[in-house]
Amino acid sequence: MKRTKIVLEDKDIPAKWYNIMADMPNLPKPPLHPGTRKPVGPDDLSTIFPMALIEQEVSQERWITIPDEVLDCYALWRPSPLYRAHRLEKALATPARIYYKYEGVSPAGSHKANTSIPQAYYNKQAGVRRIATETGAGQWGAAISLAGVFFGLEITVYMVRVSYNQKPYRRISMETWGATVHPSPSNLTNAGRAILDKDPDSHGSLGIAISEAVEDAATHKDTNYALGSVLNHVVLHQTVIGLELKKQFEIAGDYPDIVIACCGGGSNLGGLSFPFLYDKIHGKELRVIAVEPDSCPTLTKGQFRYDFGDTAGLTPLLMMYTLGHSFVPPGIHAGGLRYHADSPLVSQLTHDGLIEARSYPQTEVFNSAILFAKTEGIIPAPESSHAIKCAIDEAMRCREEGKEKAIVFNLSGHGYLDLAAYADFLDGKIIDSVYPADKINEALRCLPIID
Ligand SMILES: *Cc1c(COP(=O)(O)O)cnc(C)c1O
Repeated sequence: MKRTKIVLEDKDIPAKWYNIMADMPNLPKPPLHPGTRKPVGPDDLSTIFPMALIEQEVSQERWITIPDEVLDCYALWRPSPLYRAHRLEKALATPARIYYKYEGVSPAGSHKANTSIPQAYYNKQAGVRRIATETGAGQWGAAISLAGVFFGLEITVYMVRVSYNQKPYRRISMETWGATVHPSPSNLTNAGRAILDKDPDSHGSLGIAISEAVEDAATHKDTNYALGSVLNHVVLHQTVIGLELKKQFEIAGDYPDIVIACCGGGSNLGGLSFPFLYDKIHGKELRVIAVEPDSCPTLTKGQFRYDFGDTAGLTPLLMMYTLGHSFVPPGIHAGGLRYHADSPLVSQLTHDGLIEARSYPQTEVFNSAILFAKTEGIIPAPESSHAIKCAIDEAMRCREEGKEKAIVFNLSGHGYLDLAAYADFLDGKIIDSVYPADKINEALRCLPIID
């Protein structure tokens, strides 16, 4: 029998997260205060984050111990399986070996629970009562709501209005776990009211929802804020993916030539690839590819500049690839890939040539998702399908060049709550939006000038 699934045991869940800041050729530039534009100190952040996470945000220690309480929760679904995609390989008639790490096995259905659990844990330790956060399509909202249940925290979620209305199932999951969900923009915050004054029918965006959640947290003493991607501590928590994957490749007696993940804010990409980038920085040959949608091409068409993380300009300025904080991308179905910027760690590593980036239109992505579902069985999240498309392209190149490479991609989530998107695709209703060049140029003109 061919080996299809490479599973680890509970004892193989990593005991430590890997912090790539210990090994980066160039560290990211420091975050700047939105008002003074001077580097932020721990005190600036302590109104919305617990100190343990602030320390992780700036730490340059290579290994950071995972608390036992977090490991106990991880053990519900970790270690996650690695699959060899034999049927997909056969359908492509490729000599490449294609593998995928499946993060859809978490109760929240995506990799985001890898960070929501520790974030909830550290906030509870710090005596916080409530967490305010934002969500786009709902994956992060679901993951933090799940974590809130485990650690006894109240969760308030500002959910981008268009998703709140069009994608009820993740909202219902959040409410089932006991969270309160508001459509954003809401009239509960200054940031939300300002948008509604200008545009009462606003569909909302991730940037607006972040402004609302940050304002909520900053104006309530017992409330902190949590972010599902982008920040260093978030990507740090996701490295459990890549650390497990390394062990799984050892068992398989293989090693990847190409490591692929979709990139929204960069957390599943960083989590999958950073342990392998450690090898690359130390001389090993391999490629890491970030995949994004044509309609929100942050790494491929954005600028490497300081920008705000939110629309209202309340967050610190981060040095990252950005399309401009006022950019609202077209309403594509991969809601988790609609953020205007990227993790500073992923941005710096891309800038330094350690990560490559490419983008695809959503119809090609859905075609790849259908082929994957028909060969491997799992219906993938639209976000993860970007990684599938790239893996298929690379496997086809191996066929043309007659090369037997090992390719691995992260299947960051399942698509069983995204079936409305599949319905649209099967009905021929999904089209490729034109690249929004004018809107991106306009947003880039509004970037803050830092001298
Ligand atoms: C949120 C999400 C993403 C994008 O976020 P990253 O921080 O770039 O990983 C990708 N896939 C799924 C399934 C998601 O929920």
